[in-house]
Amino acid sequence: MGFENERKELVDKLVREGILKSKEVIEAFLKVPREEFVPKHLRRLAYADTPLPIGYGQTISAPHMVAIMTEALAPRKGHRVLEVGTGSGYQAAILAEIVGDEGHVWSIERIPALAEFARENLRRTSYARRVTVIIGDGSRGYPDAMPYDRIIVTAAAPDVPQPLVEQLAVSGRLVIPVGGSLTQRLLILEKRPDGSVVKRWGTYCVFVPLIGEYGFREGGR
Ligand code: SAM
Repeated sequence: MGFENERKELVDKLVREGILKSKEVIEAFLKVPREEFVPKHLRRLAYADTPLPIGYGQTISAPHMVAIMTEALAPRKGHRVLEVGTGSGYQAAILAEIVGDEGHVWSIERIPALAEFARENLRRTSYARRVTVIIGDGSRGYPDAMPYDRIIVTAAAPDVPQPLVEQLAVSGRLVIPVGGSLTQRLLILEKRPDGSVVKRWGTYCVFVPLIGEYGFREGGR
């Protein structure tokens, strides 16, 4: 049996709650099959509004958090997007659906086995053409394909990594959870045409830590 009804119910709930708002993001949520991005034994929970474990101590974020972050990011057709923290590849697929064939998503994951899991999920769902998955420390960004119209970090950082600000295009936008290793708040940063940046705070959230040169240290703070 397909998951279309469950997907539609979840989207309706997120719209009712005022979390999903824009046409682009709603359509992407209706299209991308979340069940293809969770471990097989958890498929029946794919449309519960909760994070799920994907192995290696990591999670696929809860749908409402993916919705909040994607709405804050405001990706559009043709955008070049960098994601830090590929995990399952679900957020990357949502972004790929929105940017279309004219745009592209580069997504960095530090755990090679998860990068492979995401690549497989993206291949099976036909998003692989629009998403390049890279193994590495995304706290340094990915200078090879800069500048990016949008940058999204799906792991918690102690502060905004400076390389990400440098790799953001003029008029670009960066969304990142910033705070301690236990709880954070979303930060939305925009680069103005004169190169200056404006920041505003969004909702409180709980993410696994960004581990790397401009993030937290492995096993510590
Ligand atoms: N966006 C993912 C999805 O749609 O499934 C969920 C991301 S999960 C909450 C955070 C991911 O960030 C984990 O897979 C973790 O291994 C990864 N991560 C942590 N530090 C990283 C770093 N410095 N560079 C790249 N990935 C990192």
